[in-house]
Amino acid sequence: MNDTIEWTCDECGRAIENGEGYVTVNGAEVKEAQRQTAEWKSKHRTSTIDVADYADLTSTVKWQAIHNACDPRSELGDFIIDVDRLGTARHALGWTLELHRMGWVRATNWDSYIKVRAGATMSRSLA
Ligand SMILES: [Zn+2]
Repeated sequence: MNDTIEWTCDECGRAIENGEGYVTVNGAEVKEAQRQTAEWKSKHRTSTIDVADYADLTSTVKWQAIHNACDPRSELGDFIIDVDRLGTARHALGWTLELHRMGWVRATNWDSYIKVRAGATMSRSLA
């Protein structure tokens, strides 16, 4: 079974080889999403939470794969994982566990993003 993750640049559409790029999320956008979540929670503290309402709120910050050379805006505070360190499904599992220790990752689309990229599957449901 091949568990290699092929990364493609979101900017130019070409493959990203090891050493050429990284997977990144915008730190400023994550902070803003966290601020909105905190604000929303303080407003809804006493009332019943409408699930649809909550779904509106969680507009998540998107991860991107990008070449070093293609990044239009590499900024201080952005979170970056070099593709060398995210080349297999095992790496993806390791990063997922690591990132979930950091609360801010919930403000991003990491889970669905990496699930698709790593081709994550479950062999059989519990049903
Ligand atoms: Zn590129």
